[in-house]
Amino acid sequence: MSVSTAAAAPSVRAPLPVLGQDVTVPLVTGGEVAYAALDYAASAPALQRVWDDVAAYAPYYGSVHRGAGYLSQLSTDLFENARRTVAEFLDCRTGDQVVFTRSTTDSLNLLAAALPDGCEVFVFETEHHASLLPWGSPHAAGRRGSNARVTYLDAPRSPRQAVETLERALADRDPHGPALVCVTGASNVTGELWPVRELAAAAHAHGARIVLDAAQLAPHHPVSVRDLDVDWVAFSGHKLYAPFGSGVLAGRADWLREAGPYLAGGGASRTVTRRADGGVDVEWHEGAARHEAGSPNVIGAHAVASACKALTEAGFDALVAREKELIRVVREGLADVPEVRFLSLFGDDAPRVGVLSFVVEGWNGSHFAAALSAEYGIGVRDGLFCAHPLVRTLLGGDPGTRGECGAPGAAPGGKSFDAVRVSFGAGT
Ligand code: PLP
Repeated sequence: MSVSTAAAAPSVRAPLPVLGQDVTVPLVTGGEVAYAALDYAASAPALQRVWDDVAAYAPYYGSVHRGAGYLSQLSTDLFENARRTVAEFLDCRTGDQVVFTRSTTDSLNLLAAALPDGCEVFVFETEHHASLLPWGSPHAAGRRGSNARVTYLDAPRSPRQAVETLERALADRDPHGPALVCVTGASNVTGELWPVRELAAAAHAHGARIVLDAAQLAPHHPVSVRDLDVDWVAFSGHKLYAPFGSGVLAGRADWLREAGPYLAGGGASRTVTRRADGGVDVEWHEGAARHEAGSPNVIGAHAVASACKALTEAGFDALVAREKELIRVVREGLADVPEVRFLSLFGDDAPRVGVLSFVVEGWNGSHFAAALSAEYGIGVRDGLFCAHPLVRTLLGGDPGTRGECGAPGAAPGGKSFDAVRVSFGAGT
């Protein structure tokens, strides 16, 4: 197997500095090489600016909402300003709520725990497990939302087919009952963009609501809640150039207000009183605090807001142009390798973010990725990308036998059924 080096290098420069661009790593063949992180879809290294903003706040550390002290007040301001910044970044409607969570997974589980009774949920089988699994989950038995009826929709082969599939599924439901559609904005496997606005229109036409999993979309494209007309958006800080441990669920306040708190504890409770019979009565907050019990991750929220500001100021144009070029370089570089097959649902030329997956026939993807790392200092992702049904469909086989998120799926006969993913971002 040989890889062409004829592909022209990208001409558009990376617009935003991230940390770690000058990290060198040892090679098995001896010596060191500058590390090439091509795994932004898993986690994007935080921007230099984000770390600077976090460091600038560090001396003023204080717990929010709890103290009269100057630093507590400053932290509270910082936390609430971060909420406003995120609302602006997502172009939220008046009255929308921004809840700080730990991640996209956490955000979608929060929404799942806030579904009205008898809610129907429609989700494509192609989703990341974070958007595929929280709905009506048996592990949430007894919680609000746990009796949701979930319909898994087959993988569409074009954006238009996605809308038609959803419309057909929604047409059969009782339009008076609550329903939610969950859809990703950009696939973490193929990078392909989904027709979110059209899916939102279809959902609303049938009386359903829609939540957008923007974990992969938000780092590459502006996301406007108003323009897309989605009811909620979820994303993760660590994919948006902020550190780990912070996420966002933003959107309609009503279902969140009507649900019990996601976690019970201080911060979520407005008043707690002991009853005459010995028990306790709790009045819960109504706003975002209802679902943010415990001492919140102020630094995480501040970092997310800093990343949102940096992306807004830099604009997405240069980032998108650069990612497109890098995708082209990888495609051209691998074009004359017959063993390489790129993965796509909507076709190789479908619009996508800077994410590209492929299989190398006859190779185990994890070995391929290990060789890239050990011999070239290139970090990519291999496996099933926490989207087992999608990868199964794309490969036309049974990759998910071991079941772990991202575990390689060796098929009988030694045929490789795990893929390799390269993904780009601000520092590539
Ligand atoms: N949704 C998509 C499309 C993703 O790519 C991911 C992570 O890879 C998630 C959700 C889950 O994000 P997190 O692990 O930050 O909760």
